[in-house]
Amino acid sequence: MTVTPDYIVIGAGSAGCVVAGELIRRQAGRVLIIEAGPTDAHPLVKMPFGLVWLMGSKIRDWRFSSTAQSGLGGRALKIPRGRMLGGSGSINSMVWFRGARRDFDDWGQPKWAWSNVDPVFDAVEQHLRPTQLSGAHPVTRRLSTMFSTNSGAAPSPDYESAGVFNYNLHKGRRWSAADAFLRPAQASGHLQVLTGCSVDRIAFQGDRADRVILTDGTQLRAHKGIILSAGSIGSPAIAMRSGFGDASQLRALGIDPRHDLADVGRNLHDHPSVGLYFSGPNSGYGLTLGQSLAWAMAPLRYAATGTGRLASPTVEGGAFFNARGTSAEPDVQSHFIPFKLGWTGARYTYGQGYFADVCLCRPKSRGALRLESADPQAAPLIDLGILQDPSDLDTLVAGIKRLRQLLDRSDFGPYRAPEAHPAASAQTDDAIRRYIVQTCATAYHPVGTMAIGTVVSPELKLTGSNNLWVADASVMPSVTSANTNAPSMMIGWRAADFINQEAAA
Ligand SMILES: Cc1cc2nc3c(=O)[nH]c(=O)nc-3n(C[C@H](O)[C@H](O)[C@H](O)COP(=O)(O)OP(=O)(O)OC[C@H]3O[C@@H](n4cnc5c(N)ncnc54)[C@H](O)[C@@H]3O)c2cc1C
Repeated sequence: MTVTPDYIVIGAGSAGCVVAGELIRRQAGRVLIIEAGPTDAHPLVKMPFGLVWLMGSKIRDWRFSSTAQSGLGGRALKIPRGRMLGGSGSINSMVWFRGARRDFDDWGQPKWAWSNVDPVFDAVEQHLRPTQLSGAHPVTRRLSTMFSTNSGAAPSPDYESAGVFNYNLHKGRRWSAADAFLRPAQASGHLQVLTGCSVDRIAFQGDRADRVILTDGTQLRAHKGIILSAGSIGSPAIAMRSGFGDASQLRALGIDPRHDLADVGRNLHDHPSVGLYFSGPNSGYGLTLGQSLAWAMAPLRYAATGTGRLASPTVEGGAFFNARGTSAEPDVQSHFIPFKLGWTGARYTYGQGYFADVCLCRPKSRGALRLESADPQAAPLIDLGILQDPSDLDTLVAGIKRLRQLLDRSDFGPYRAPEAHPAASAQTDDAIRRYIVQTCATAYHPVGTMAIGTVVSPELKLTGSNNLWVADASVMPSVTSANTNAPSMMIGWRAADFINQEAAA
C-alpha cells in the first residue's frame, strides 16, 4: 500500500482479522493490518492434530511464561500464544463456544448484554460455520451418556450437559479468522497485510493516535484511527509502551505517561485447569504396537480424506456441570481428550488412554501484567494470579470429585479405562488439594487486561484517546464460561461496527 491507510489494525489474531475484514466489508476505507509473526501457510496449522507440535514452536508461538504463582507453590506456568496470521486461533483446538448467556449480562456493561451480542455471534457464525466434530473417537461419543437428558447436540455452558463439542473446522482443516475474514477481504484491494513486523508503540499528535512505530523504528501513519488487537498479553504491553498505564510505574521504566490509567494490565485471569489421566487397553488413541499401523497410515489417510486421528483437534468433547451438584447451573467445564497423555512431562508416552480436566467457568482469582522494561523485545511480567481466591481451589476440589462420579456413571462400554493418575494418591480432599496445587495449569484463555468499563469504553475506545480502539480478548471484564475464541471474534466484529458508526456520524 503506497497510500496512507485509513485504519491500522495491530495484530492479525482471532479478533484482529475480524476487525480488518469487517472494516473492509463495510467499505470504511483502506486498512493495514500488522502481524509480528509469519503467515499461517504451514501444514501443521491446517491439520487439527498439528497443534501438538505448534505449541512451543519458536516461530509460531510467543512461548510466554507466568511469574512464579504463589497459589501453585511457586510454579511458573507456560502461556502459549499464537504468533502468525490467525493468532492464537491458528494454534488452538478450535473448540467453539459463545459462552453462557449469563456471562455477558453479568458484565453489566451497556451494549454488551446477551441480547446485544447474540445476533453478532449469529453473524460471525455465518462465516465460521462451526459444526459438531465428525469422526470423534467412540469413547468421546459415549460422553453423551453422562446425563440422561442429553439430546446428542453439543453441550452448553447454560445447563449440565456432555458430548462432542462444536469446532471451526472445514473438511478436516482448521478454518480460522484469517481464513474466514482476512483472506476474503484481501480481494478488495483495500487491505494490506504486513507479516513479520513487530509493533513497539503508538505515537500521538495531540489526542489523536497518529502513527504505529515498529520495533525497527519504521513509522506507519493512519488517517483515521488505530485498533489494538494484539491479544490479552500484547495489547496492554503496547498500550503501556505508548504511555497508557500506571504513571509512576511507567516513569520508573523511562516511559512518558500519556494517560494515568492504572487498570491497564490489571484484572488478568484465565480458566484454571486440572486433569485426570486414564489408561487401559482398547480405550483411547495411544502409542502401542497394536496402533502402530494406524499411526503409520495416518498421514496418508489424512492427506487423502481429511479424516482419521490427525483430523482430531485433541480435545474432542467434554461436559459442563455443577461442581457440587447442588444447582443446575454449571460452574465447571471438562475437556475430554481421547489420547493417552503422559503426566510426567514427556511429550510421548506408551499405552492407550484418555484425559479429562476440570476447568473453572468463572474463576474469582485475579492477577496483573506489567512491563519489566520499555524494551519491546522483553517479555512482560505476567502474573496470572491462579488460585489467589481460596474459593477457586474449593470449587476445583469439588469438581474433581464430581467429575470422577460422572465419568464412572457414563456408559463407556468396552472403551472404559481405569484412572491411572493421580488415582489412589489423591482421594481425600486434602490430597486432591495438594494434587491441584502441584499440577494445576490453565486452559490458555487469558483475558481482562484492558477491560470494558475500566480501560475501554463500551464502544471499545481506549480511555484518554480520540481514535484508538482495543478489540481482542483483553477487553472482557470477566472470562466467559467456556473457550474464548468465539467471544474474541464477536468482539472484533463489534469493534468494526462501532468504528464504522462513528465514522458515519
Ligand atoms: C494452545 C491454545 C489452545 C486454545 N484452544 C482454544 C479452543 O479450542 N477454543 C477456543 O475458543 N479458544 C481456545 N484458545 C483461546 C483462543 O484461541 C483465544 O482466546 C483467542 O484466539 C484470542 O484472540 P485475540 O484476538 O485476543 O488474540 P490472538 O488470537 O492471540 O491475536 C493476537 C495477535 O497479535 C499479534 N501480536 C501480538 N503482539 C504484537 C506486536 N507487538 N506486534 C504485532 N503483532 C502482535 C500476535 O502474534 C497474534 O497474532 C486457545 C489458545 C491457545 C493458545
